[in-house]
Amino acid sequence: MMTFEALGLEESLIQAVKVLGFEQPTPIQEKAIPVLLSGTKDLVGLAQTGTGKTAAFGLPLLQLVDVNKKYPQALVVCPTRELCIQIVKDIELYKKYIPGMQVAAVYGGTAISAQIRDLKKGVQLVVATPGRLIDLIERKTIQLEHIRYVVLDEADEMLNMGFQDDIEFILQNTVNRESTWLFSATMPPEIRRVSKKYMEAPVEITVGKVNTANKNIDHQYYVVRAQHRYEALKRLIDFNPGIYGIIFTRTKADAQSIAEKLTREGYTIDALHGDLTQQQRDKVMGNFRNKTLQLLIATDVAARGIDVHGITHVINYELPDDVEVYTHRSGRTGRAGNTGICMTIIHTRELGKIRQIERMVQAPFHKLEIPLGKDVCRKQFYHFIDNLMQLDIEDDSFEPYLPMLEEKFADVSKQEILKRLAALEFKRFLKYYESAEDLNVKERIPESRERTSRRISGNREISLRRDTRGRMFGGNGNYTRLFVNLGTKDGFYKASFLQFILDMSDLKKDALGKIDLKEMNSWIEVDKKSASQMIRSIDGKKYRGRNIRMNEADQHRK
Ligand code: AMP
Repeated sequence: MMTFEALGLEESLIQAVKVLGFEQPTPIQEKAIPVLLSGTKDLVGLAQTGTGKTAAFGLPLLQLVDVNKKYPQALVVCPTRELCIQIVKDIELYKKYIPGMQVAAVYGGTAISAQIRDLKKGVQLVVATPGRLIDLIERKTIQLEHIRYVVLDEADEMLNMGFQDDIEFILQNTVNRESTWLFSATMPPEIRRVSKKYMEAPVEITVGKVNTANKNIDHQYYVVRAQHRYEALKRLIDFNPGIYGIIFTRTKADAQSIAEKLTREGYTIDALHGDLTQQQRDKVMGNFRNKTLQLLIATDVAARGIDVHGITHVINYELPDDVEVYTHRSGRTGRAGNTGICMTIIHTRELGKIRQIERMVQAPFHKLEIPLGKDVCRKQFYHFIDNLMQLDIEDDSFEPYLPMLEEKFADVSKQEILKRLAALEFKRFLKYYESAEDLNVKERIPESRERTSRRISGNREISLRRDTRGRMFGGNGNYTRLFVNLGTKDGFYKASFLQFILDMSDLKKDALGKIDLKEMNSWIEVDKKSASQMIRSIDGKKYRGRNIRMNEADQHRK
């Protein structure tokens, strides 16, 4: 068994990790620590979040900086305030037995004056988010001339968040930098470029596979119709009564409205998105961390860098546009050796994207059914009974009330008590699920048929399945029939709808056939050659704040 001693760490650090209960180094620590301590100039560490990266760079930094020099010698740059606080917290623990070692956290959304004061205390290590750090550099309130080590943590996330220029600015302003250590979960070309430009022949260390999601995560997906998404989400939550999870949405509006709806329905959930003030954000995160909230619903940007222990489930309310984002989302669970579940709700048209992500994370995805109402009820019952049986009743404080209770229940059967307990806990719940419909998309195109009946048109695959009337979609004369989730309820009438479609798609009227405008949805016949252009220019766009879905009509039939 590899030990921390064997990595070359000094006694004070070994003692600190032992106190934390770290029995042996994680793979990234095992690989990176000896390299970093050996005086290696530059390093690229490819590892997922939750692999023990913080200690992998934090421990060597604490050993390499000179505690007797009271100015910043090492700088860690990370994408978010949450991660910044987390790293400082960890480093505080690792430096417990090094008297005089100080670390400062520098992040936005809070008074800069207190941070300037902290920096003046003679800190050796600074952990910063890019924006606030640049602010301090411009105010000349941070001393960077003695910085020897720069660590870029979650570099891919920083680039995803648009910090590329800031990172370069920071690297250019640490002129006496001797070593640059870059940690990233993925290796997109921009990271390669930054590493090429600012690093010299970096040692590259990979833990697991690059772009690979954590193997402790079970990836599941559920196929439902678009209009059942919310209901499906609720069912997944209800089917997992002990859930402590993060739900991801693409938009702030979705995060907010789903949080409000679920709160009204009795769930302990709050939303985290870019419209919140720092104070509101802190409050939400505080409540989630201390488990006052069982669920957090967040947009990708707002959730970046969040490191909360013990997340059991990540739920993708919808797939992210960018498949790489899936890794960041799913990486919130299954951390530090724990297992986690990442559930994704999709509709039939997105199966291809699932396969794409599957290839990227190199882990199998499991197609599961949305539980039926009765299964949810059964699961909730078991959970309730488990909780009931696990309650600590050894406490003597119940004793005085027992005779009274026994008297009260003298003529009540055990069965009746059970029924009453169940009614108390579940009446509304059972009623809700009594007539709940099956949300799973029943008819699926058999694999073999799906394959043989596809052809490629532009970048899109067009299904040539026969519809119920026996005619070919995409084969009705020259037209393909498209479904769109807009209708008269959106304020359209035939002419305005036609105009809207033509404006959006930039097609001529003669590309269109029949338009079947209904209250909730519509069907449009479009020249086969123009179908993909129409879908491309309309699907996913917004109309009055709502996402427009457009696809071939056969995918919306039973
Ligand atoms: P990180 O990837 O740095 O966010 O670390 C993820 C979690 O793993 C944190 O909670 C660390 O405290 C924990 N951790 C780091 N190193 C070890 C180790 N060698 N043994 C056990 N837990 C660790």
